[in-house]
Amino acid sequence: MSSPLRRPLIAGNWKMNLTLAQSVDLARAVKEGAASASGEVAVCVPFTAITVVAEILRGSPVRLGSQDVYWEAQGAFTGEISAGMLVDAGCQMAIIGHSERRKLFGDSDEWVNKKLSAALKGGLTPIVCIGETLEERETQKTWRVLETQLAGGLKGFAPADLSKAVIAYEPVWAIGTGKTATPAQAQEAHLFVRAQLEKLYGKAFAAGTRVLYGGSVTADNVDTLMSQPDVDGALVGGASLKKDSFLRIMGFKAA
Ligand code: PEP
Repeated sequence: MSSPLRRPLIAGNWKMNLTLAQSVDLARAVKEGAASASGEVAVCVPFTAITVVAEILRGSPVRLGSQDVYWEAQGAFTGEISAGMLVDAGCQMAIIGHSERRKLFGDSDEWVNKKLSAALKGGLTPIVCIGETLEERETQKTWRVLETQLAGGLKGFAPADLSKAVIAYEPVWAIGTGKTATPAQAQEAHLFVRAQLEKLYGKAFAAGTRVLYGGSVTADNVDTLMSQPDVDGALVGGASLKKDSFLRIMGFKAA
């Protein structure tokens, strides 16, 4: 069970899925299910669904997030969306540095750092994703990768600037593969991440920062993952697209 300093967060990442009608339907179900959630709940939806989902979630405790944010405020940046535009459309959160963005679209630690800065300045709660590939794990590079991604992504802030930031440990080999990290693997990595946060920004910061686990979280494995002392929530892809499974994940039971 996570420390009382850190309120658990269950965040759905809808990725590039759902029509507007399907988004409305799912957002309504999440809103209705929020009363029996075991912590804070968020849905990170495609840009096109933000305004309709914001309308549905109005007045509910469910937070709304985007899946990315660009670092410039406005201008000739075709295809990009700024933090100000996201807030204007109804977002309170933004995923930054998801492994799919890193792998398919070239997001580097330097970009993550710039996006993080823009998100914080714009008033968005950032969910910064880090994680190792299978090859990196198998060649004993996991800790080096996590250390590098954290140091690069979180570079140059004061602890107070990052007080809202959330970290998501998402082993790339577990994302969308059905191969979840064991609770022991997740706990070991989360403990390592927290030690790095302490090295970068001090003990109080590390103790108060939420570290989510992501990678094939389902209704069947969420309880054991959430029972680990350093797992403060989950970033959920596939299982966040189905009402029943996401509602069950929202209502996780930690030992
Ligand atoms: C994700 O998109 O961040 C993710 C963890 O996906 P999945 O739950 O489908 O593995």
